[in-house]
Amino acid sequence: MNVRNREGMSPRLEKLLAEAVVWDNHACMPVRAGDVSFLDDLERHRRSGVSFVSLNVSFDHFPWHFGFKMLATFRSWIQRRPERYLLVDRVSDIHRAKREGKLGVAFDLEGAVAVDDLPELVEPYAALGVKWMLIAYNRNNRVGGGCQDDDCGLTDFGRRVIDEMKRVGMVLCCSHTGYRTAREAIEYSTNPVIFSHSNPRALWDHERNIPDDLIEACAASGGVVNVNGIGFFMGDNDNSTDAIVRHIDYVADLVGPEHVGLGLDYVFDASELDDLIAADPELFPPEKGYRSGLRMVEPERIPEIAERLLTLGWDDGALRGLLGGNNMRVAEQVWR
Ligand SMILES: [Zn+2]
Repeated sequence: MNVRNREGMSPRLEKLLAEAVVWDNHACMPVRAGDVSFLDDLERHRRSGVSFVSLNVSFDHFPWHFGFKMLATFRSWIQRRPERYLLVDRVSDIHRAKREGKLGVAFDLEGAVAVDDLPELVEPYAALGVKWMLIAYNRNNRVGGGCQDDDCGLTDFGRRVIDEMKRVGMVLCCSHTGYRTAREAIEYSTNPVIFSHSNPRALWDHERNIPDDLIEACAASGGVVNVNGIGFFMGDNDNSTDAIVRHIDYVADLVGPEHVGLGLDYVFDASELDDLIAADPELFPPEKGYRSGLRMVEPERIPEIAERLLTLGWDDGALRGLLGGNNMRVAEQVWR
C-alpha cells in the first residue's frame, strides 16, 4: 500500500508538486471596481500550491475602459502584500514565485470590446500585466464572432489587433469565440494560439465547448487547450473530479499531453455570476442552459486531479506539462 501524506498525496505526487510550476490560466474575482473584499481568497490558490494565476479584468459585457479600473484595483492590492503575492511581468517572475512560495498574478481580458476601435489599446493593457485576450465573448464584436452568435468571421480590424498583440507579446486566445473566427484567427496567427478555458465538445455538446479540429489546430500552432472546471461545460452541471479528468485525458489523447493545461475558471463570488447571467441574456442565453447554481472545480482539487492522472498512467513529464510547463512554453515564446 502506498504511504500517503496528510493531504492524501502519494510520495511521487508530493515530490512532483514540490518541483512543478502549477499554473491556473483563468480565475474570476468579482469584477467590481474598487471592491477588494474577495481578494484574500487568493490564498486558496497559494495554499493549493499554485504559483501562477491569471485573473480576468473585464469581459464584453462592460465598456472598453472598464478593465483599467479592475487592473488598478487588483494591482494596488497585490503590490501592498509582497510577502504573499507578486505581479507577474516575465516568465522569470513565475520561477521566483515558485521558489519563494508566493502566488504570481497576471491578468486577462475576455473579449476585444476592451480595445474598442483602436488596436493600439492592446499595448497599455499589456504594460499593466494583461497576458492574454480572447477575441469575442459569446457574441460578435468588431474583431470577430462569438460562439453563441451568427459568427461573422475574423475582421480586417481583428487582423490588426492580432498583429498588435504579437508585437507587444500578448497571447491570442479563442475561448468563447465562434468556430469560423477561431479557425481564421489560428490560421492568421504566426504565434501559438491558446484556448484559455475550453473543453472538448466531443464529451459534452455545448456551444462553449470546442470540436476536435479546433483542438488540433490549436496544438498545431504550438498552443495549449486549458480545460475548465465548469459544471455546465463538463456535463449536466457535473463538477466531479472524474469529469475534469475525463476532459483533460481526452485532449491529451487527441493531440498529446504537451497541449493541455488548466484554466479552472473558478468564480469566487458565485452570486455575482448569477446576477450577471440574469442581467445579460444576450451573452448568457437561458435557452443554451445558462442558469444559476453553477458548480465548479475548486483550486484545492488540483492535487487530487494530478493524483488521478498518475493512476491513469500519465508520466511525470506529461503531468508537469499539464500543471504548468505547457503554458510556460507558450509564455516563453510569446511574452515580451
Ligand atoms: Zn469565460
